[in-house]
Amino acid sequence: MWYAIILAGGSGSRMGAGRNKVLLELQGEPVILRAIRAFEGLADGVVLVSRGEDIPAMREMLAERGLTAAVVPGGATRQESVWNGLCALPEAADRVLIHDGARCLVDADTIRRCMESVEACGSGVAAVPVVDTIKQVDAEGVVVSTPDRSTLMAVQTPQAFDTALIRRAHEAAMAEGFIGTDDASLVERLGYPVRLTQGSRRNIKLTTPEDINMAQAFLGSGFPALRVGQGYDVHRLVEGRDLILCGVKVAHTLGLLGHSDADVALHALMDAMLGAMALGDIGKHFPDTDERYRGISSMKLLAHVVSLLAEHGAQVTNCDVTIVAQKPKLLPHIPQMRQNVAEALSLPLDRVNVKATTTERLAFEGREEGISAQAVVMVAQA
Ligand code: MG
Repeated sequence: MWYAIILAGGSGSRMGAGRNKVLLELQGEPVILRAIRAFEGLADGVVLVSRGEDIPAMREMLAERGLTAAVVPGGATRQESVWNGLCALPEAADRVLIHDGARCLVDADTIRRCMESVEACGSGVAAVPVVDTIKQVDAEGVVVSTPDRSTLMAVQTPQAFDTALIRRAHEAAMAEGFIGTDDASLVERLGYPVRLTQGSRRNIKLTTPEDINMAQAFLGSGFPALRVGQGYDVHRLVEGRDLILCGVKVAHTLGLLGHSDADVALHALMDAMLGAMALGDIGKHFPDTDERYRGISSMKLLAHVVSLLAEHGAQVTNCDVTIVAQKPKLLPHIPQMRQNVAEALSLPLDRVNVKATTTERLAFEGREEGISAQAVVMVAQA
């Protein structure tokens, strides 16, 4: 009887989403549910290993979609999580597929090849040839050696085994205090041959925001949904305040008044991002009655908005910010402003424009009573 152990334990810190990446949605369906569905009709049952705090959400999602899986808490390491999954298998599960929940694009053929290999020789691990030349380096980043690429394979999941074999391998690793980065390495240590099977280049592990875009391209039309947003903000110029624009402290006799650092340019940018996603505005997300935001750097608020978008599978693809100020001259600061925004949005510089204009001394900006800013963004949503 075949069981699948699906790992949904990662924190997703490299995704910048601020929550478990397997809960992110891809074309309206959470990543983890896609991963579970991939095993439907192939495995007789599924054990989902989840972070304790996510278990209620996982159970609710499974119930909503009519999917059946036992949900058990993960451990401190990937290896411990797999062990917990192994312990939760029913007696009859004499074959097991171990799979990373973040590899939600795994296809039935890849899974089937792993299963067939187990029937033939006790193990079957999805893998693809390495296309990049791999270098072994020392602590200083100096190359020590260049392994022959034709002997290298990049290993994915599923990693499938005879259940008794993988149990024995985990027990031996535990007894010896060995921590491996995959399950096959534990079997290898037993001196038991591990057979690789053909994986798929589409079977990517969703790790960074770029991976979501790639997954989107693999999945459907190839085009993510594009959404546009615009933002506008004004702050009053006063004495005794710093002038901060796009995270740059600009030397000036006056500064902008506000609850936060009053970075009018980033406020317009954040409103554009929230607007594109129909998520309201920064007043809703960071109320100026909240003491936590007093004097806060708007760069920090921007990081939060980036993670909000990531939770919706969305990412800014380019932005254009206009700052309207009579004084001071902003041109010398533009490169640093672009740099700050590009880093915050994980974008290359050529996707970020910041420009400044005066109003020919007209209106409140021209009278130096305040500075306004406008922003337009394009957001791609998986
Ligand atoms: Mg504002």
